Amino acid sequence: MSDFRDHIATADQRGRRKWVYPRKVAGRFFQRRTWFSWLLLFIMLSGPFVVINGNPLLMMNIGERKFVVLGQVFWPQDMIVFALALLLFAVSILVFTTAFGRLWCGWACPQTVMMEMVFRKIEYAIEGDADSQRRLNHSPLTAQKFTRKLLKHGIFFALSFVVGNVLLSYIIGWRELYQIVTDPPARHLTGLGFMTAFSLLFYGIFARFREQACTFICPYGRLQSLLVDDSTILVAYDHKRGEKRAPLRRGQTFAARHAAGQGDCVACSRCVTVCPTGIDIRNGVQMECVQCTACIDACDSVMDKVGAPRGLIRYASVNGIERGERLRITPRLAAYCAVLLALGTVLAFMLFTRSDLDTTVLRAPGSLFQQMPDGHFSNLYTVRVVNKTSREMPVELRLESPAGSLQVMAGGSITVAPGALSENSILIELEPSAMKSGTTPVVIGVFSGGKKLETIKTAFIGPRN
Ligand code: SF4
Ligand code: SF4
Repeated sequence: MSDFRDHIATADQRGRRKWVYPRKVAGRFFQRRTWFSWLLLFIMLSGPFVVINGNPLLMMNIGERKFVVLGQVFWPQDMIVFALALLLFAVSILVFTTAFGRLWCGWACPQTVMMEMVFRKIEYAIEGDADSQRRLNHSPLTAQKFTRKLLKHGIFFALSFVVGNVLLSYIIGWRELYQIVTDPPARHLTGLGFMTAFSLLFYGIFARFREQACTFICPYGRLQSLLVDDSTILVAYDHKRGEKRAPLRRGQTFAARHAAGQGDCVACSRCVTVCPTGIDIRNGVQMECVQCTACIDACDSVMDKVGAPRGLIRYASVNGIERGERLRITPRLAAYCAVLLALGTVLAFMLFTRSDLDTTVLRAPGSLFQQMPDGHFSNLYTVRVVNKTSREMPVELRLESPAGSLQVMAGGSITVAPGALSENSILIELEPSAMKSGTTPVVIGVFSGGKKLETIKTAFIGPRN
């Protein structure tokens, strides 16, 4: 029984892959997960086509270093905001995992949703439940077996192609993807290469790699052992109620079982046979458990049949099972929440005060002040304006203090293309009466469409009195 500690459930003693044939499951959690997965699939598939403020809902264009989240464009100049958002995301995972374990994996992870709610269901429809799949795989190749396998893998590849293209449209945008599909292939060899690679990757994951992605590749499952504690709510087996496990004899009552030192687990192994990662939840918290709730539904149906209360396997913490405790705010959870709150506050402040433009004004290198024929003094500056929006922005600079004039050189006006940087020179003139000895502070307002977007402070150099 303890050999589960020696090797993972999907490998034998010699490290060879043991193919998992999880049985079909039904029950209240599976029903809820099915409804939730339809919602998630709808969001996942429609996401690239949702437009907010002229921008997609989500776009991660690493090549062009352009990121869009909820219609807000983030350029490389916003890296601090982006890094903070990533940090917030990481801390919220810490908080969530400490409180609720891998709830995300079982209910919302795209890998689980696609595998269990799409690919697995197609497999059941074509090859039948676990036993007929096992029989089919071990049977000699016949025309019927070949047809079923061809049909299954054909559908798997077609779906992987769709999933790969959806991912690609989250990276480059659906318009670009449409261009790749409709233009002559020679013009988009890189794009077509990625399209093929993503399709093959997803086909490999859903047709062959499956639960190994969760147990070997995904770092989140490995983090679990660091994050969960005895107060974390997990899918757990109530060993106090279930042990000592033993088959239910014909006519045996639960009172008689308990009197004989036996628990409510009737050792039917239904919870093991439905597990998509091939583990036995009765062995305790394990890294491979993706919290999919299949074992809860399977055990509940067994408890219904034998006339025992449901919940032998349920959402519970170790402390909940051992001492009947409910979810408790531990000092660690409180500390994570405090960090989360602080980061969230800083991020919200940065987002609310985020300007569409990022302007810097520096005195032109090597230049000194000049005195004009009318007695005014002038300084030359270099202005860099970054347009962080996805629309062209006309920019107007106004000298706000002290009194004087500001003139944009070469062209007289500034217009910045979407996501571009514009560099210009400006000349500021001040009357001697408005100047201080040596250095005079200068305030410049940055306007677009008549709306003030930024205030820039710089220094004006003049003669010392
Ligand atoms: S399904 Fe329930 S009763 Fe059956 S082996 Fe698992 S824990 Fe025991
Ligand atoms: S142990 Fe239960 S919850 Fe965990 S992966 Fe297996 S079936 Fe899902």
